Amino acid sequence: MSAQLASLPFELLVLGAGPAYTDRVGATGAAYLVRHGEDGLVLDLGQGSFPALAGAIEPSALLAVFVSHLHPDHFIDLVALRHYLRWEFQPPRRVRVIGPAGIGDRMDALHAEPGWTAAALDVEPLAVGERQVGPFSVEAARVTHTDDSYGFRVTLADANGPGLVYSGDCGRASDLQPLIRPGDWLLTECSFGAGPAEPGAEHLDGPAVGALAAATRPGRILLTHIQMGHEGAAAVAAVRALYDGQVDLVEPGWPPS
Ligand SMILES: [Zn+2]
Ligand SMILES: [Zn+2]
Repeated sequence: MSAQLASLPFELLVLGAGPAYTDRVGATGAAYLVRHGEDGLVLDLGQGSFPALAGAIEPSALLAVFVSHLHPDHFIDLVALRHYLRWEFQPPRRVRVIGPAGIGDRMDALHAEPGWTAAALDVEPLAVGERQVGPFSVEAARVTHTDDSYGFRVTLADANGPGLVYSGDCGRASDLQPLIRPGDWLLTECSFGAGPAEPGAEHLDGPAVGALAAATRPGRILLTHIQMGHEGAAAVAAVRALYDGQVDLVEPGWPPS
């Protein structure tokens, strides 16, 4: 265990930890709330995660929702967010959504209603690079998964301390390397647990995360998005075999209060 583990300069709350389907009761799609004082943004908003969001923060006050890629376990509760903003407030309130091109069309098509998304969500295309959102700086990098998938690094613009790197769904661990600075917290998918990852599935396993950690020296690793049939404890052990820092499995509601 690292003796000099530094805390994030902002709060991280796991609203949902994926994956796309599971028999774990209470599991919901990927959704991670980053908060500093009154300012909050969400990384992904997968299935079933809206209630946890609404229980943690006033959703209409979010600075933005960042979407890593267009798989429903990472964005489909934007439907609930849009309904909430559209029907709970008169006039409707609006939230920024920064995600892969075409996200608005996907949700419009789901409802067979052009303009459905734009009634309450301001959609902006996500691109590689860094942008400021309130007090946060969010850097996006492409990862191998769908043909338009991203990982993120979040920092507080005017504070020292580690950043938070979030993998999204990622099929090649080395894609995350440019985002990770030594000491960062790495919140990463580990879909295939202790491994081996299924060839062509474009997801990670414990040995891949461990090797990435050994090369990049994050201060802490948080494993998420464990697929049905894989054990979280075995995933943690597989990462620890290659990395001597702190490794934890996260679930909705993490960190425990
Ligand atoms: Zn996923
Ligand atoms: Zn995916």
